[in-house]
Amino acid sequence: MAVSSGTAALHLAALALGLGPGDAVVVPSVTFVATANAVRYVNADVVLADVDPDTGLMGPDELQAAFDRAKNATVRAAFPVHLNGQPCDMAALADVARANDLELVEDACHALGGNVDGHAIGDTHASRMAMFSLHPVKAIAMGEGGLLTTNDDELATALHRLRNHGLVQDSDIFSDRDEAFDTAGQPNPWYYELHTPGFNYRASDIHCALGHSQLGKLDRFLDRRRTLANLYDRLLAPLAPLVRPVPRVSWGQSGWHLYPVLIDFDAADVSRASLMHALTADGIGSQVHYIPVHRQPYYRAIDPDLTLSGADAYYTRCLSLPFFPAMADADVDRVVASLTRNLGTS
Ligand SMILES: *Cc1c(COP(=O)(O)O)cnc(C)c1O
Repeated sequence: MAVSSGTAALHLAALALGLGPGDAVVVPSVTFVATANAVRYVNADVVLADVDPDTGLMGPDELQAAFDRAKNATVRAAFPVHLNGQPCDMAALADVARANDLELVEDACHALGGNVDGHAIGDTHASRMAMFSLHPVKAIAMGEGGLLTTNDDELATALHRLRNHGLVQDSDIFSDRDEAFDTAGQPNPWYYELHTPGFNYRASDIHCALGHSQLGKLDRFLDRRRTLANLYDRLLAPLAPLVRPVPRVSWGQSGWHLYPVLIDFDAADVSRASLMHALTADGIGSQVHYIPVHRQPYYRAIDPDLTLSGADAYYTRCLSLPFFPAMADADVDRVVASLTRNLGTS
């Protein structure tokens, strides 16, 4: 189902699961704030989970630990995030979810085109729903937009309704029969009902036309990103252990949204800020994905004593390098040369 953004898809998923006050949802701390914010939109509580310090992914142990920490709340769901495009270990997360009666919703906003355990990400074989973002920085763009997938017909019906103001147009469930039907028992042509208010989260035809044409280019974009990632891996090898690519997981293939490296800034005796400034001076953009959610003032105020050492270890070392299909091989050379020079390793 097409929606107006990945964030709208997250909000709709929380609504469709009936999450609300008194419920809690486990969210990994290393993600874009939208994953956690969607839980707050429905006034449920966010329980932030730690992540693997090298991949940034929430694993089964981190999910279980977060669940155990939230012992006074009714934890009903978890929103694992396929960070950078790499899939979480869905089979292992599904085991923990089953044991604790949790619904899984995959934030796959980074992972369009990836796969896990031989399944395309988004087929929801191990979750209730998954969503993708089609924001311009993501794998394909539709201006602003998103996609939400599910295998559950009942959820699909609820999601379609919530996307369109909550309007009910299925005459089988009209509740006001006198208003709804004419004397011959035909539904009146103007008629619709509202049972629960929804939102305007539709994607416009214009955005969908762009998204549709972009979808046809996904395989080509993905091939190019994979080639660029392999090239980066090869050219960066001499910089180990100071600079290391984020390790690849064994249970699936990345959708290759980002190409982050982990840098030992202490050993290099360079701060991340000064390295980023030096790269900028060479005409090279870089970014940090992400400031852990538990470090954001809003979420820190909710749980001031929370420390998540894996998330912090990932955050303090990560740096996303330029990574887009139109990059030439020579651009990768130039990025690695600048990195090498500015880290004083040449
Ligand atoms: C981009 C992103 C979102 C939000 O998607 P929008 O389409 O920008 O609303 C949510 N989660 C993650 C992990 C993202 O990267």
